[in-house]
Amino acid sequence: MRLGIMGGTFDPVHLGHLVTAEEALVQFNLDRVVFMPTGQPARKTDRAVTSAEHRYLMTVIATASNPDFDVSRMEIDRPGLTYTVDTMLALREQYGPQSELFFITGADAVWDIATWKDAERFRGLCTFIAATRPGYDLEAAFVEYAEELAALDIEFIEVPALAISSTDIRERVSQRRPIRYLTPESVAGYIHKYGLYREAF
Ligand code: NAP
Repeated sequence: MRLGIMGGTFDPVHLGHLVTAEEALVQFNLDRVVFMPTGQPARKTDRAVTSAEHRYLMTVIATASNPDFDVSRMEIDRPGLTYTVDTMLALREQYGPQSELFFITGADAVWDIATWKDAERFRGLCTFIAATRPGYDLEAAFVEYAEELAALDIEFIEVPALAISSTDIRERVSQRRPIRYLTPESVAGYIHKYGLYREAF
């Protein structure tokens, strides 16, 4: 089993995330990709994050038609701040030593992995797939922790669709600007139905 774990806040999930997951699935010959919305992101205690249940449901809606994608409640159901190492250790336990785990996320999240909780435990536990936007200056971004990062298994994929960002979508909704074609229509409908992101941001 080659299992991709798509880690993110998904506030909200958008087409860039879906393209990234599909690209990782194909490039790394994964059996499936499990989207893993964070519960309480450890690095986002300074800003309001939309409720985990809304972010989870939007991710379910966005991925529902793809038979290779699943969504897990593991992080949103785990009490306390969310740490990736806890998730990957739980998945290793669940899937056994024969499975290969790939943690897929944005390159901007990956560059400071060395400072994540119990970072040394990632060695041999999983491969990181870091998605970048075209033109992303990898060397400049990774220089600070180059030594620590060299000890981890990190692969990069370039995803043009990552020009789309959750921040931009939240900003657009609050300014009553369109988000059509940036996120699946079903997710845009959900955002409007529940009045998410309407407050000035
Ligand atoms: P973030 O800092 O909000 O995102 C950094 C950049 O990466 C943003 O441009 C973001 O774009 C993009 N991004 C995030 N997830 C992505 C994905 N799955 N695919 C493609 N691009 C993605 O990142 P975050 O959401 O807080 O964290 C990302 C993952 O790393 C989560 O699973 C989180 O739990 C984990 N993490 C763990 C620790 C820890 O264990 N201590 C610390 C930090 C992060 P969008 O805003 O458009 O998504």
